[in-house]
Amino acid sequence: MVMPIYVGGAWRQGGGAVYASRYPADDSVNAELAAASVEDADEAIRIADTAWRQPEWRDLQPHARAGILYRISTLIRERAEELAQLQRRDNGKPISETRALVASAAGTFQFFAAACETLEETLTPPRGDYLTMSVHEPMGVVAAITPWNSPIASEAQKLAPALAAGNAVIVKPAEVTPLAALELGRICEQAGVPRGVVSVLPGKGSIVGDAIVRHPLVRKVSFTGGTTTGRMLAGIAAEKLMPVTLELGGKSPTIVFEDADIEHAVNGVLFGIFSSSGESCIAGSRLFVHESIRDSFLERLVAKAGALRVGDPSDPATQMGPLITSAHRASIERYVQLGLDEGGKLLAGGERPRGRVYDAGWFYKPTILSGLSNSARICQEEIFGPVLVVMPFRDEAGLLDQANDSVFGLASGIWTRDYKRAWRVARRLEAGTVWINTYKQFSISTPFTGIKESGLGIEKGRLGILQYKHQKSLYWGLNEQPLPWAN
Ligand code: ADP
Repeated sequence: MVMPIYVGGAWRQGGGAVYASRYPADDSVNAELAAASVEDADEAIRIADTAWRQPEWRDLQPHARAGILYRISTLIRERAEELAQLQRRDNGKPISETRALVASAAGTFQFFAAACETLEETLTPPRGDYLTMSVHEPMGVVAAITPWNSPIASEAQKLAPALAAGNAVIVKPAEVTPLAALELGRICEQAGVPRGVVSVLPGKGSIVGDAIVRHPLVRKVSFTGGTTTGRMLAGIAAEKLMPVTLELGGKSPTIVFEDADIEHAVNGVLFGIFSSSGESCIAGSRLFVHESIRDSFLERLVAKAGALRVGDPSDPATQMGPLITSAHRASIERYVQLGLDEGGKLLAGGERPRGRVYDAGWFYKPTILSGLSNSARICQEEIFGPVLVVMPFRDEAGLLDQANDSVFGLASGIWTRDYKRAWRVARRLEAGTVWINTYKQFSISTPFTGIKESGLGIEKGRLGILQYKHQKSLYWGLNEQPLPWAN
């Protein structure tokens, strides 16, 4: 049976090519579905453009809108295990991670429900005989374009604030991971989001994604994905003069100073790069270790990397599942070869694990390379896989030069017991997020942003909702007399 998609409030077969969602651990088929066609996108967007203006959505009081978002959050929690298993099949992440992502999606809807209910408008100081207000209005139809690496959490991160802001949302999940987003569409429907306000349109970025972004009725795009695609979308948005939020790639530095708590730092570095098999924009993929502890640190790091549990994603003890597709694994293998060709030395991994559990899926061992300078291509380009490059440093100035020598500026990590040094270095790192003595921790209340080629705009945080609203100013005349000029 070909699974239906969610077009303008109707569940029906997409008009595009039929394809399969596959389980990356053994390449078995999860579901067959037909991608949304360009015509589906046009229809969904036109319906959305009518739906967001309807009183049943547009005129909802904030507490009533929040009520719908709370219901979405509750439904996600009620179905948490089923959604976590679905996402594991869709993406191949270990079940421990997909459970956390589902919990995060529920928390995101809860948070934006609260944000929606408590958002206040401002009375600004007037300069005449009138009262001035600054208010915020929905934008209309917004597009949420998401990647395959954290389905449900990525969709929630865009859908929740966009709905809280009163918009209609066209969700375009990655072609290879459509299942969690489609279930989220069902949950929105059950929670009472009016028909047509949410559509979920899986398919190829170059076909359906492109049609959505270029559509004249789409007023904003929030995109998470690669920098090349993001740059292209920003170009289209520039033509339309449409705002975009872009959460893009990274090549994040993790820094271990000589006074760090070594046990914590080793664990943090491993988690930072190898959780999610390194398929994470915030992966700490460049490690800078102070030269005085380099050898002892690497010895512990390499031993622990070799002992990471790679395997069956349904096993709660598994730490690393397969990569998303065979083509993606091939691209990672090319990068590792490039690193070796550039003069790198392999300290761990660099190959596929062998054996019955592994042979049918897209597994790759946690890999560590050293002996390269920061200018090497594998230290500059995002690999999006379980590959860590290690470089020594001598002093803070040299470290900062190297750490900031990157086109990206997404995240970074510092391991030290010296809080003054942590403060100094954190303030000078060119990154949207700095973790100090921790890594890859997230709070929905804390804004998330990338600088340089890692992104544009802010997600999360209480005011993240304003990314999906237009500001409007109101002047209320208070004078009984007519304006003097016309007299
Ligand atoms: P990734 O490497 O994570 O696949 P992409 O940037 O290619 O990164 O994809 C992220 C999302 O952007 C996916 O949903 C993808 O289908 C979509 N996408 C890719 N190309 C385009 C495009 N030209 N226009 C709109 N969306 C696109």
